[in-house]
Amino acid sequence: MTDKVVVITGGSRGIGRATALVAAARGYRIVVGYASNQGAANEVVAAIEAKNGKAIAVKCDVGSEADILALFKAADGFGTLGALVNNAGIVGKSGVRVDEMSAERIQQMMAVNVTGSILCAREAVKRMSTKHGGVGGVIVNLSSVAAKLGAPNTYVDYAASKGAIDSFTVGLGYEVANEGIRVAGIRPGLIDTDIHAAGGEPDRAHRLAHMVPMKRVGTADEIANAIVWLISDEASYVTSAILDVSGGR
Ligand code: NAP
Repeated sequence: MTDKVVVITGGSRGIGRATALVAAARGYRIVVGYASNQGAANEVVAAIEAKNGKAIAVKCDVGSEADILALFKAADGFGTLGALVNNAGIVGKSGVRVDEMSAERIQQMMAVNVTGSILCAREAVKRMSTKHGGVGGVIVNLSSVAAKLGAPNTYVDYAASKGAIDSFTVGLGYEVANEGIRVAGIRPGLIDTDIHAAGGEPDRAHRLAHMVPMKRVGTADEIANAIVWLISDEASYVTSAILDVSGGR
């Protein structure tokens, strides 16, 4: 498994970046997807290559089907696909109630967080399923504890998109369980990344840390370690399952 290709959407920063570095250290060949920050993606590739790992950066806005097809075409040229990490995700501006949300905001949220993940999984299943002549593989979907909490008065649209990801993880897992593919989800809690700044609240994770039973934020590495475990053969009997990595939140 460890000589196989791992496609990571949103691999240029945050949890995706950490996953790329941890997986590369285990020997996987990494396809680092990124939306627009080519410099950050190139930095991840350079960090992997500096440790004799193998990686390429591929621009892929998961809101675009054409970009997704190009991402998997590039991955095909890099080796045999072993895993997809559906990591790319966005939040809208924090503190917007549903009765204030624009249709454009909600559509963008679902296009990136839900449709993008499902289309990436479609491409991965076409390549990995034994039904299609593949040798099996793993899909890890990034959800959020927001799927359970609902994120009222914060970003209910984001929470709903992650609820959809949880259902998708369970359903797709059952669908391909007998075709050599495992599908698992991770629900991170408050993790110290740029995503909170994107929602207009850079200090959000630290501000809410007191609400976490462990009384601290999590690191991108703590999520990456769980993702890479799920990809590995150590998790060989895990499918249609969702793991909270949230300090108890
Ligand atoms: P982040 O630090 O904001 O990084 C986002 C990554 O996704 C970047 O690599 C970015 O690429 C990429 N990206 C953004 N929009 C994209 C698009 N339309 N298409 C493709 N890639 C896109 O985010 P993060 O905190 O690491 O979050 C990663 C995942 O974990 C997300 O699914 C998020 O919902 C989930 N999560 C995070 C937390 C948390 O507290 N951080 C908690 C629960 C769940 P560029 O560099 O090119 O912009």
